[in-house]
Amino acid sequence: MTCGDPHDKDCAEVLERVFFFIDNELPTADSSEIQQHLDECGPCLEKYDLERTVKTLVQRSCSEHAPETLRDKVLLRIRQVQVEITETRVD
Ligand SMILES: [Zn+2]
Repeated sequence: MTCGDPHDKDCAEVLERVFFFIDNELPTADSSEIQQHLDECGPCLEKYDLERTVKTLVQRSCSEHAPETLRDKVLLRIRQVQVEITETRVD
């Protein structure tokens, strides 16, 4: 899925790194590239918002680090939601 506009960075590449971006684990140069892409690209921004929201919910429900199993469940849920978003968009 792409928004159809040309970007310096490939959407797939951005989405792969969105988790690290949310965690502030990217070098400044990389995170500004991601930020720029999110500013330009609606679909990626939507996924970023979704992942950030889920992450916040997980952090709220667990004061400690989320166990791996919970993380896996959350990742699975994110994928399901993304599929739902994708499907509802296709008219
Ligand atoms: Zn994109």
